[in-house]
Amino acid sequence: MPELPEVETIVRGLEPIVRGRRIESVWWSGRPLHLARPIDLRGLRAVAVSRAIARVRRLGKYILVEVDGPGDAGVVIHLGMTGRLRVQPGASLRAPHTHVVFGLDGGDELRFVDARRFGWVAPGRSLAKVEALADLGPDALSGFDAAALAAALTGVRAPIKAFLLDQSRIAGLGNIYASEALFRAGIHPATLARRVRPQAADLLEAVQTVLAGGIARRGTTLRDYVDAAGRRGDNAAALRVYGRAGQPCPSCGAAIRKRVDAGRATFFCPSCQRLRR
Ligand SMILES: [Zn+2]
Repeated sequence: MPELPEVETIVRGLEPIVRGRRIESVWWSGRPLHLARPIDLRGLRAVAVSRAIARVRRLGKYILVEVDGPGDAGVVIHLGMTGRLRVQPGASLRAPHTHVVFGLDGGDELRFVDARRFGWVAPGRSLAKVEALADLGPDALSGFDAAALAAALTGVRAPIKAFLLDQSRIAGLGNIYASEALFRAGIHPATLARRVRPQAADLLEAVQTVLAGGIARRGTTLRDYVDAAGRRGDNAAALRVYGRAGQPCPSCGAAIRKRVDAGRATFFCPSCQRLRR
């Protein structure tokens, strides 16, 4: 699933290509997307058609396509598990699983392709009032300082791994970068979040470092992810624990372990990340 660095990489690739271009049409495949729901095609057309794209930006794992005009209207996109965004000539063949297409002036198309259809595309008549965005916590890359993270950890009885995945507490992390950050900070994933408070500065440094590294290497491609130009990311080779169960820890040589909590796999070093209760 694309996390903050993958979404950021896509946004950085799209922005210079689509900024200033007018949206002329919106097409939908008719297939339901996230939660088996239809998309709001009328709503999308109402906010987007005949408007120019003012900016593309990221909020947590969401992509916001802001349009010109009064207010703060735009389109909200979540990539789900396998969503991709590409800008391609309208005359070119559409890839299988193309579900939403924005026709742009000049003839190109911004295409949303999603094989598993866990992603979604929705209109925001006011982006500030879109519920999913309003519920997001501060951005994992830029929204915290150590004191703010310490405050957010205070009193939280959930395991730190669950805390890091909770988008309402900290936005942008998923399984891969949460596992990598906990390894870097030397924190066992099952440690209660409130117990991590004294290490908030270390944890924040670890989170920001793994995210910045992921962006610098244009994202992690394990299977599906590609950037806005269709290229795979290079970060998979830089992962230290994620997906490496049984391999030696790069710090101490102990075998990396995998544990599954609530259906989510976590990878950690049992020696470098000791559980403190
Ligand atoms: Zn180790």
